[in-house]
Amino acid sequence: MKNSHEIIPYGRQSISEADIQSVVDVLRSDFLTQGPVVPAFEQALAAYCHAQHGVAVSSATSALHIACLALGLGSSDWLWTSAITFVASANCGLYCGAQVDFVDIDPRTFNMCPMALEAKLREAQQLGKLPKVVVPVHMCGQPCDMAAIHALSVQYGFKIIEDASHAIGARYKNEPVGNCQYSNITVFSFHPVKIITTAEGGMAVTNDAALANKLVQLRSHGISSTPSDMQARPADEIWNYQQLSLGFNYRMTELQAALGLSQLKKLDEFVQTRHVVATHYDEAFKELPVKTPWQHPDAYSSYHLYPIQVESSICGKSQKEVYQVLTHAGIRVNLHYIPVYRQPYFERMGFKPGYCPHAEHYFKSSISIPVYASMSDEQQGRVVEEIRSALL
Ligand SMILES: *Cc1c(COP(=O)(O)O)cnc(C)c1O
Repeated sequence: MKNSHEIIPYGRQSISEADIQSVVDVLRSDFLTQGPVVPAFEQALAAYCHAQHGVAVSSATSALHIACLALGLGSSDWLWTSAITFVASANCGLYCGAQVDFVDIDPRTFNMCPMALEAKLREAQQLGKLPKVVVPVHMCGQPCDMAAIHALSVQYGFKIIEDASHAIGARYKNEPVGNCQYSNITVFSFHPVKIITTAEGGMAVTNDAALANKLVQLRSHGISSTPSDMQARPADEIWNYQQLSLGFNYRMTELQAALGLSQLKKLDEFVQTRHVVATHYDEAFKELPVKTPWQHPDAYSSYHLYPIQVESSICGKSQKEVYQVLTHAGIRVNLHYIPVYRQPYFERMGFKPGYCPHAEHYFKSSISIPVYASMSDEQQGRVVEEIRSALL
């Protein structure tokens, strides 16, 4: 160990006394689950991102699963997602019995490349294997080229679920991510490393009332108690609810929703602070032999992640060397992500190393360095100094 400073994680939550009080208030109230706070959080978040409907669930993973089901994804279908993402963006397709495939990234933004998508769609059309659902992922909080992906969805007839787990508070063409202007459903995560947190938790937002209704049913066993949803039954029997499909218990609790509602008030401030950290890094790394994350002019990132790219041909150090030096110095850097198809579980489906060349290059060069809203100037300074000495 070069020094014995505190450990700096790559991401962490910011919890205020007001957040704590909001959870305590729920603990003293009548409802710990299925009360008034979940709908309040849903409405506030949908309003924030200019969507018509919000459906709160237990995680982004469960939101992705029921979003796929609500869009009719089944065992004869294909789901495509980005090669560089968390495994959950692909697993949701497998939960539905569908097959999954991966689209290479744009090496500048690390997002699904619309040109690679188009080439793959042309090929799939000839083979009769077009996807039913495509899941673009707003990597690091930078929105994808949604206008291009949406245009392709019109041409090739697939549905779109935006995996915005990194991107609450981000903007695309000056509109909030989650407005679903270019997609059927957008999904957010509230895991503690993300922009705002509910401990575990997620939300699906949509402008389609019928889809929202399906999502509400699927998160709670496939049950509805809305008279217009229910089937006719003998008048002398009591039917105050019916199970209409096979759903799950994917509900969010009132405690989580209270934390989320309280955190939402500070979302813009959190994102602004992340921008301050990112700008500091951009400036500090200008003179170092390292690549900083390029930003598309249409994008206002939420900066969930700040990956630097270490090329041994440029700095003479390998990514792994730099990663190890930083970890050893107490800077908890990370790698987001290993290409999903390289995971042993996916390799067993037949995917081979090298399948998506830009994803592979990113995997072998990127290191996510710490960025979170409560990072002090001193912590940022230490990260910069440790990176400088690791590279030089
Ligand atoms: C975190 C994350 C998820 C899963 O979120 P959970 O709320 O932990 O289920 C899915 N996709 C991406 C891209 C993520 O970063």
